[in-house]
Amino acid sequence: MAYKRILLKISGEQLAGKFDGGIDAELGAWLANEIKQVIDKDIQVVIMVGGGNFARGAQLAGHGIKRVTADQIGMLGTMMNALALNDIFEDQGLQSRCLSNIFADQVAEPFIHRLAEKHLERGRVVIVAGGIGRPYLTTDTAAVSLGLELSCEVVLKATKVDGVFDSDPATNPNAVKMDSLTGDEAVSNPFIKVMDKAALGLATEHHLPIIVFDALKANNIVNAATGQPAGTIINS
Ligand code: UDP
Repeated sequence: MAYKRILLKISGEQLAGKFDGGIDAELGAWLANEIKQVIDKDIQVVIMVGGGNFARGAQLAGHGIKRVTADQIGMLGTMMNALALNDIFEDQGLQSRCLSNIFADQVAEPFIHRLAEKHLERGRVVIVAGGIGRPYLTTDTAAVSLGLELSCEVVLKATKVDGVFDSDPATNPNAVKMDSLTGDEAVSNPFIKVMDKAALGLATEHHLPIIVFDALKANNIVNAATGQPAGTIINS
């Protein structure tokens, strides 16, 4: 079954692609073409972009930098990614708009619910900058919150590995991939670190499914968006 509207969460680290930091524009162009396949199926696409390729609040705080300021710097990192992606998408012929959850009038349109709805209904990808605009949160939690706000039917959480495993596949070659699990299992299992517990808890409470998958595998985004096997589904 194809979803009508999806929320795709991409981390900053993924956008860095072949580089150690910053943005891999070539990868961005590749992503545009993967997302075009989804738009061509009349599925609406919202993107929450991370900022870890520039800054993460929890790591930056300290030595005089307050946590709130560190998180604000992190949010500005997401803004840089969102602006770059928006340009790259349009350059690839994929219509998109960057809406910001932090005040940045000279840089991007503000995130306004009705405006986001209008862009989505016109088939434009909506890229949201600034997470949810408040500190002490990550873009994972922001993604679930935004997914709920915009009535997305699923959150596609892009990760390095294609799904949730019973142990870390990077260190355990015998790690087994799970096809599905419940939100309560994902929240309570301390070994599941694929997404913030706050994000998992919010999605579970509101019965919003999450698909954890590798977005950088060809056709995986369109597969996940059309209900084909991709990654692991967390259902509640
Ligand atoms: N952030 C925040 N509020 C939000 C979203 C993000 O304060 O609603 C900050 C937080 O410091 C976070 C940083 O922005 O560490 C970058 O986001 P995140 O770490 O989620 O990026 P990712 O790991 O997905 O690249």
